[in-house]
Amino acid sequence: MNRPRAWVDIHLDRLNHNVQQINALISKKTKIMAVVKADAYGHGLEQITLSLHQAGVTSFAVATLEEAIEVRGLLPFADILILGFTPVQNVYQLARHRLIQTVFSEWYVKLLASAACSARVMIKVEIKVDTGMNRIGFAYDQTNVIKELFSYKDLRVNGIYSHLSVADSFKPEDLAYTQVQINRYELCLKELDGFSYGRTHLQNSAGIINQSHLQFDYVRPGIMLFGIPSGEVKEVDLKPILELKASISMIKIVKAEEYVGYGRIVNFNEPRKIATVSIGYADGYPRSLSGKAVPVLVNGQYARIIGSVCMDQLMIDVTNIVGVSEEDQVVLIGTSQTKKIMMSTIAEKAHTITNDLACQFSLRTVRLYT
Ligand code: PLP
Repeated sequence: MNRPRAWVDIHLDRLNHNVQQINALISKKTKIMAVVKADAYGHGLEQITLSLHQAGVTSFAVATLEEAIEVRGLLPFADILILGFTPVQNVYQLARHRLIQTVFSEWYVKLLASAACSARVMIKVEIKVDTGMNRIGFAYDQTNVIKELFSYKDLRVNGIYSHLSVADSFKPEDLAYTQVQINRYELCLKELDGFSYGRTHLQNSAGIINQSHLQFDYVRPGIMLFGIPSGEVKEVDLKPILELKASISMIKIVKAEEYVGYGRIVNFNEPRKIATVSIGYADGYPRSLSGKAVPVLVNGQYARIIGSVCMDQLMIDVTNIVGVSEEDQVVLIGTSQTKKIMMSTIAEKAHTITNDLACQFSLRTVRLYT
């Protein structure tokens, strides 16, 4: 048996398909800015960024300076936008790596401009407008404050954007709220008419799928690149690129009345065949799935998790699995023969979203790229 203890198969070839699907949804004039923060949502920043670039993407967004520098090391000519806060003492690195920094408040702009002036560098910035998310951003109706930004000689405005907070919901009140956010963003742009604010962008994955009629300069897909959109979205032909797998380490018959796992939460009134699988919550498989009889796949057949998810191992009931052996691999997310387990199903059972779940697999799980 020549396979790792626990691993993710990442199908890079499917990335190109997902990029094509996004391009088919958006208007001809709109381009993709790929969001590859958090190690490309746990899929591996380097391989994902390079594959996206091969698929024609030249604009990227990340959350931190460190992530941005990593992308710059891979792609000398790409646009790289930092969506989050960068401490202003790093102003020289922003300039040196030709990064675009998001600005979101008067306080931050003043500090950044003064740091840039002292370091004698020019910083490219994009203006984050708060249209209703209330996370970071200039209030959409305070355009007087935003207009001041254009007078700083050490900052150059490259774009202006906002973020949707409930684009992944079909509830009438949420659809109405998304429309309010779109209107506020458009109003803000109108107020800034005559100012060279550069590129515009608003939509995350759910916004791209559910509001595909919008025609801003860029869209910012993250999770849909990986084929696993979260929340309520219209049907789109996307391919999940990650599969989570692990090796069986041991199979045994557990006698009737014996317990399985921590906490003695499981026992049976008849003997069961139990396989121990070498993956646990330290590999990103949620501990909150303990005791929920979550499905896994062995040899194209469904088995169930028994008892608690341990740090490095978990147990499954394979009593009814035909031909099971210690040579077998277990698919926790993905496809085995004709059956599949979706990441969204596992995320839902763990009371989270696919974005969160995918990020967890960057901890110590081996990645195998195809
Ligand atoms: N834009 C911003 C500002 C974000 O914070 C995120 C992700 O959280 C995205 C775009 C991408 O979102 P999604 O993964 O839902 O496409």
